[in-house]
Amino acid sequence: MENSLDAGSTSISVLLQDGGTKALQITDNGHGIHPDDLKIICERFTTSKLAAYDDLFTLTTFGFRGEALASITHIARLSITTMTPGSQCAYRAMYRDGKLVGDPKPCAGVQGTQILVEDLFYNVLARRRALKSPAEEFARCWDVLSRYAIHYPKVTFSLRKQGEMAPVMLTHPAPASTTAAPSPADPTPPAEGEEHPCLNPIRLIYGEALARELRPPPAWSVILVHHDHHEPDFVVDGLVSNASYSAKKEVFILFINHRSVECAPLKKALDALYATYLPKQSHPFVYLSLTLDSRTVDPNVHPAKLEVRFLHQDAIISALVEVVTDVLRASDTSRTFYVQT
Ligand code: ADP
Ligand code: MG
Repeated sequence: MENSLDAGSTSISVLLQDGGTKALQITDNGHGIHPDDLKIICERFTTSKLAAYDDLFTLTTFGFRGEALASITHIARLSITTMTPGSQCAYRAMYRDGKLVGDPKPCAGVQGTQILVEDLFYNVLARRRALKSPAEEFARCWDVLSRYAIHYPKVTFSLRKQGEMAPVMLTHPAPASTTAAPSPADPTPPAEGEEHPCLNPIRLIYGEALARELRPPPAWSVILVHHDHHEPDFVVDGLVSNASYSAKKEVFILFINHRSVECAPLKKALDALYATYLPKQSHPFVYLSLTLDSRTVDPNVHPAKLEVRFLHQDAIISALVEVVTDVLRASDTSRTFYVQT
C-alpha cells in the first residue's frame, strides 16, 4: 500500500484469501512500472525513490530501501501486472528469489499496478507454522488498512475477502473534497469551519457514534526550547475521542511524517491521561498525525519501519499530553467527571 501511495494512487483495493496467507492482492491506479524496469524491480536494493545520496535525509516517499518486493520473492510467489499511462497494454511478470521468471507478458489491463502475493512462506515451514489463523491474519490486515484509510481520506480504500462480493471495508473521499493525488508530503489540515477530512473515513469504518465524539486537537505548532538553536517545530493533527466516549477496545493510530508507527511511551502517557477521565476498563479512540522535521526522525530503527525514534521525544510527548488534556477539558464542561486520585 505504501508503494501504491508512493505511485500517486487515488484508489487502492486489497483482496485477501485466507487472511492473505493463501493470496494477497493489492490493486492500485498509480503511475505503474515501466516494462524495462520489470526486469530488475525485485532485485535487492532496487528503488526508484532515491536519485542522490542526499535524498536520504529529506525523504518524502515511504520506500527508499528497495527491499520489500525483493524479500517477498524469497518467501512467496510474486507476480506483478502493471500499466503505465499511455501504454498500449499491460505487462505481467512473475518472480522467484529476486529474479524475473521468463519474460514479462503483454496482457490487457488498466493503468496502475497489481501486486499478487501467493502462498506466503510456502518454502519456510517454520514461518508458515508461526502464522496465526486466517481470521487473525485478516484482522491484522484490516487494522493496517483502516489506519491508512483514515490518514489518506482522499484515497479510496477497499478490503475484500476472496469469494465475497461486498467489501468488508470501503472508504471513499467525501463528495466535496478534492481528488488531488495524495503524497506522503501532502498533509491534509482541515480548512477553517470545515469538517476534519479524516472524519469521513472514520465514519465509514467505525460509524457515526464514534465520529460524533471526536475532536481535533487545537492546531498547534510547538517550538521546543532547547539549548541548541536548531529548535524543531512540530505540528499535531488528528482526532481524539472526548470524555464522553469510551470503548471496550482501544484504537490508537499514530502517524509520524505520514508513516504509520508505534510509539509505546506516547501510548502509555495518553492511556494514563484518559484513565483519569474514563470509567475503568474503557478506552479512547486516538488518531494523531505528527509532522516533525524529517532530519530528527529515524525511520530505520525497525526493519518494517514500524517503530521510529525521534529527537526530543520526552518533550514532544508532554506537549501532546497537554494538547489532549485541552480536548478532554473542553469536551463537556457540564458533565461530572469521574477522576481517579
Ligand atoms: P522501495 O519502495 O523502497 O523503492 P520496493 O521493493 O517496495 O522498494 O519497490 C521497488 C520499486 O518498485 C519501487 O521503487 C517502485 O519503483 C516500484 N514499485 C513497487 N510497487 C509499485 C506500485 N504499486 N506502483 C508503481 N511502482 C511500484
Ligand atoms: Mg516500498
